[in-house]
This record gives sequence, C-alpha cells and structure tokens, in this order.
Amino acid sequence: MDLVVLLNTVNLTSGAGFLLARAAGCTVRRRDRFWEATGYSWSQPRAAAFTVGCVVLSRRPVSEVVWQHEQAHVRQYAVLGPAFWPAYALAAGWSWLRTGDWWSRNAFERGAGLTAGGYVERPVRRFGRRSRGDVPAAGPVSA
Ligand SMILES: [Zn+2]
Repeated sequence: MDLVVLLNTVNLTSGAGFLLARAAGCTVRRRDRFWEATGYSWSQPRAAAFTVGCVVLSRRPVSEVVWQHEQAHVRQYAVLGPAFWPAYALAAGWSWLRTGDWWSRNAFERGAGLTAGGYVERPVRRFGRRSRGDVPAAGPVSA
C-alpha cells in the first residue's frame, strides 16, 4: 500500500474525506494514487477544490495543475493527520493578518504552490510600523 494512503487511512482523515464526499453528493473515483470527489454541492468552502485526507473534493473535475496542488495537501495530511485542520486555520489566520487574504502567507498553500492553486500572492501589509520619518520628534517643536 502507498505510504501516504496508509498514513491518511490510519490517521482517519481519508475516512473523513469519504464521509464528507458522500454527504455532499459527490461521485468518487480513483485518480492517480488518491481519490477525486466531484459534484460537491455545498456552498462552503468556496474554493474550486479542497482536500481532506486522500480525497480531493470539487464541484467539477480539476485541471492537472490544480490536482498537483491538491496532492501536496494530501501529503501534508499524511504528516499532520487531524492536526492539519487547526494548523491550517492558524496559518490562514496568520496570512490574513499579514496580507488581508488567507493564502498569501499560509505555509500550507505556499508549500502546495500558490500559482498552481490559482492564488494571486498579495504583499505583506506594513501596518503597525513606522519609518523613522513618521516618528514625531521628542519634546516640543518650539519653546
Ligand atoms: Zn491549496
């Protein structure tokens, strides 16, 4: 058995993915080493595709580029198991604070490839910092 498939079976994330796919009315078929669940009918998440364990869920079959991106998430699940979910939420929150979106500084999305995932990277916000020129002079300006 494939090691990633074995790990995601043992850590129960693939089981969660299959249950979600079934509940959301997906058709599940094997694609390469993993599973593609198409026909996802729920409104959330709004992403074109997302991954739970070894199951890639989407409304329509995904392109090869997106499939490669989602396979990286499959491997992230193999490393973290169910801890992927809170870790991903923290990474998304960090990204939101730094850039105003949940992917640009999200280590999981960066690791999977932002461009392959269809994301446009935003620059880091520079709030809360002042350049030397912004700092008011100490003491009264005139005396
Ligand atoms: Zn992704």
